[in-house]
Amino acid sequence: MNMVELIEKKRAGGELRTEEIRWMIRAYTDGELPDYQMSAMLMAICFRGMTERETLDLTLAMLHSGDTLDLSDIPGLKADKHSTGGVGDKTSLVLCPILAALGVKMSKMSGRGLGYTGGTIDKLESFPGFRCDLSEEEFRKNLREIGFVITGQAQDLCPADKKLYALRDVTGTVSSIPLIVSSIMSKKLAVGADVIVLDVKTGSGAFMQTDEDAARLAAELVKVGRAAGKKTRALVTDMDEPLGFAVGNALEVREAIDVLRGESAGHLLELCLRLGGCILTEGGLAADEKQAEEMMLGAVKSGAALETLASLVRAQGGDPAAVYEPDRLPRAAFVLEVPAPRDGWISRLTANEIGRVCMHLGGGRETKESAIDPAVGLLLRKKVGDPVCAGESLAQIHANDPEKGRAAVEAYLRCCEIGDAAPEAKPFVRRVF
Ligand code: URA
Repeated sequence: MNMVELIEKKRAGGELRTEEIRWMIRAYTDGELPDYQMSAMLMAICFRGMTERETLDLTLAMLHSGDTLDLSDIPGLKADKHSTGGVGDKTSLVLCPILAALGVKMSKMSGRGLGYTGGTIDKLESFPGFRCDLSEEEFRKNLREIGFVITGQAQDLCPADKKLYALRDVTGTVSSIPLIVSSIMSKKLAVGADVIVLDVKTGSGAFMQTDEDAARLAAELVKVGRAAGKKTRALVTDMDEPLGFAVGNALEVREAIDVLRGESAGHLLELCLRLGGCILTEGGLAADEKQAEEMMLGAVKSGAALETLASLVRAQGGDPAAVYEPDRLPRAAFVLEVPAPRDGWISRLTANEIGRVCMHLGGGRETKESAIDPAVGLLLRKKVGDPVCAGESLAQIHANDPEKGRAAVEAYLRCCEIGDAAPEAKPFVRRVF
């Protein structure tokens, strides 16, 4: 086959055949196609798009570019949850222990965060000693016995995605729906789950900034998942303001623990119940969402979900005592309040800017090599729609450097708009697919 002809075909709006897509992905993964040709193809896809059939073929070609995980010998429903990412998103730390306590097997392959705040692994590394470099044997043992295991992205899963993503990142081709769908779904399909649930964020702190784009992505993800034979659901959820109250690694772990103790609710719990409801109903473990919710709240109330988190931490080398005594988690040396400059209602909290404040405190990575400070971050005292009086605390800044802490107080004031009236309330879960 000839790559120039394929690029010209796509550039003219043509449809690539299955064999052509398979050939292109194999040849690129094996180093036979140069980056400049693949870059041209990616740009042509950005402009011309792909049909549903092409997107599925691309996903499957990427899936088969490397190893896949076979979990069929592990009893129970295997499920996976994916979030397109956002600020303060600690959902996995709550949802996975709850579902594992109910017998669902939750195996998470997770990346480290680049940018605003840490990824799930960075958050769990707030437990001193926590490690994610598990052997396959440890991974399977923990999944079988605890029902929840988390590891870094295996080198041999979806090598095509690793190469393509790196190329997209430097060629302005990240934001194409077929490319995003194939990237996400090839990795989800590689890890052997029976049910996949996707949390597609929308808003200022999200990859997709409008509800329309997020809904388009969610619909395409679900189509590909189902066409590949998996039970797949997706929610479109708000990421205009951070999720929950904590932003920053150890602070987010504490918030997750509070929810697992039944001491905190709000959007974080709502999201976990909705995502978990999709998994339990699709997997046939609950008749409907209401029953699913009762089961999940039962696992919180009984303490089983918290115990599952402690078992995960212990099995992966961390100190489980911190699950029961969160004061043992890393704590910042300085805590500064952000006083409200006036009376009013919080009308806007820009999630992406708040994420950046956390990163500048040291809670996120500016480059792949940066070290994360688990202790620093923000605790939001007021969320969108809350009334506030002048001088009341809008947020707490947790810093290890007083200079950075003071800069964060100033920066937070620019992230927070106070209006004269309560803003119109929007539903947190915007769409369900
Ligand atoms: N996340 C991924 O894994 N891939 C994309 O293309 C975008 C978000």
